[in-house]
Amino acid sequence: MLSDIEIAQATTPEHISAIAKKAGVPESYLEMYGTNKAKVDYNLLADVEHAPGKLILVTAINPTPAGEGKTTTTVGLADALALQDKNVVVALREPSLGPVFGIKGGAAGGGYAQVIPMEDINLHFTGDFHAIGAANNLLAALLDAHIHNGNELGIDVRKITWKRVVDMNDRQLRNIVDGLGGKAHGVPREDGFDITVASEVMAIFCLATSITDLKERLGRIVVGYTYDDKPVTAHDLHAEGAMTALLKDALKPNLVQTLEGTPAFVHGGPFANIAHGCNSIMATRMAMALGDYCVTEAGFGADLGAEKFLDIKCRLAGLKPDAVVVVATVRALKNHGGVAKADLNEENLEALEAGLPNLLQHVENITKVYNLPCVVAINAFPTDTKAELDLVEAKCRELGVNVALSEVWAKGGKGGQALADEVVRLCEEGDAEGRSAETFEFSYDDDLTLAQKIEAIAKRIYHADGVTFEPAAKKELAQLEALGFGNMPVCMAKTQYSFSDDQTKLGAPRDFTVTVRQAKVSAGAGFVVALTGSIMTMPGLGKSPAAFKIDVDETGKISGLF
Ligand code: ADP
Ligand code: MG
Repeated sequence: MLSDIEIAQATTPEHISAIAKKAGVPESYLEMYGTNKAKVDYNLLADVEHAPGKLILVTAINPTPAGEGKTTTTVGLADALALQDKNVVVALREPSLGPVFGIKGGAAGGGYAQVIPMEDINLHFTGDFHAIGAANNLLAALLDAHIHNGNELGIDVRKITWKRVVDMNDRQLRNIVDGLGGKAHGVPREDGFDITVASEVMAIFCLATSITDLKERLGRIVVGYTYDDKPVTAHDLHAEGAMTALLKDALKPNLVQTLEGTPAFVHGGPFANIAHGCNSIMATRMAMALGDYCVTEAGFGADLGAEKFLDIKCRLAGLKPDAVVVVATVRALKNHGGVAKADLNEENLEALEAGLPNLLQHVENITKVYNLPCVVAINAFPTDTKAELDLVEAKCRELGVNVALSEVWAKGGKGGQALADEVVRLCEEGDAEGRSAETFEFSYDDDLTLAQKIEAIAKRIYHADGVTFEPAAKKELAQLEALGFGNMPVCMAKTQYSFSDDQTKLGAPRDFTVTVRQAKVSAGAGFVVALTGSIMTMPGLGKSPAAFKIDVDETGKISGLF
């Protein structure tokens, strides 16, 4: 069996100008980054008349630590649609260097369903993340310079919320003291770094609908509070113009291709816990403008990724998905049914059946809460037995749930024909109960209070009995309402492994409450983050990280990425 990178390197890519032509991008909008990557000018969206294509969201059950193959399924489904002569464009997140060098590895798909050049996509790519880091850190530098130069705004250094960022798992930087060295060298204070993908600039970048919108959002960032608790914004520090200048090229979506030559935008990559976890609105819009079908992915399981895609991104961008694909694997279902990680490769029909409620609850949320058509994609692993695959399919059918076996990892687009048929049917006709993009509903309305919105998500999506607000969270939510942020959607920061806020509660847990410990505003992004536990915004590296295996030979060929 070849590794992901070996499969990718054995493929001869088409020239990116040929891919652009296939996607219908006029040459004048194309900015080449070598022969297999290009940026597409966002003015295309304003200049060219287009009827938006169908939007297909790929999401998943609560994952095991390795991921359940959402990216793989997204890419494979697009290739499957392309084999049916559909005009299809993919929209995906850009990988962060943290997981690439840490545990998870890259995020360009797997097996015969990948986007290429996977080495570039997983490493520096077109430099977007560096630009985002630079914009973030410019704001931090302006903030500390303001304090050093007299602090006219009266910023309380103990109430600064803005952090510097670097795109690396570097726990050493989590908590630091800076500004040391005496009067000429700044004002000493406690500080810390986040990983770039956890920054609000990344979230803003991905929610911006134009460069002007980007600038306005950056200006609204709250960096901290004054001695009398007034918010201080990036605009107060005159930062948004220069920050936007640093981001002007990054905002142009990156065009690459799948292994089978399907056009794919890979652009932006916010965290799926403290942020909303999907690629940029610019890329989604562009994929929909160019393709009759746009296939896109949301991070983590559907309780986090799809919830935020639907309640935050679709709300802010005015998007309505035409079909939702919920990816499930036999491995993860067995995990939900009580099998330990080490034993997931053994056949176990009993555990598999015991794990099914996790899948069914996600499907029910999509169909009954969001009122959208849904299909389950069983992402087949080499270790799955026929009896296991048949069992999942039979149980879904028994309960009237649309389901298709997906073998795109092993076979590419050929292995996704059943899934593609089902997705096309849902997009064109809706489901048997009449659900379609037109019946889409959010899980909560704008005019609820922040606490009511959190309760709606906890009860309707997580199936919790209710929410416990710790005193700090209560106070912070009240402050945020008073400051006028009450009309914003809520971004839940919660473990991805469980419907609940306790990662050991697998399956479809009942009789639990969700505890909200803290709340903070991402005013530029336009959402209020509710933290249910301590969420890591600067990961660290383990004893034997993926970085140890990554190498490059005499000719410049990279190995060991996965
Ligand atoms: P997600 O997007 O859900 O995090 P990915 O698509 O990135 O998941 O897949 C995670 C890892 O699992 C990748 O290394 C990929 O190669 C592997 N993988 C995905 N699907 C399969 C499969 N059907 N069989 C074997 N490995 C798979
Ligand atoms: Mg993924």
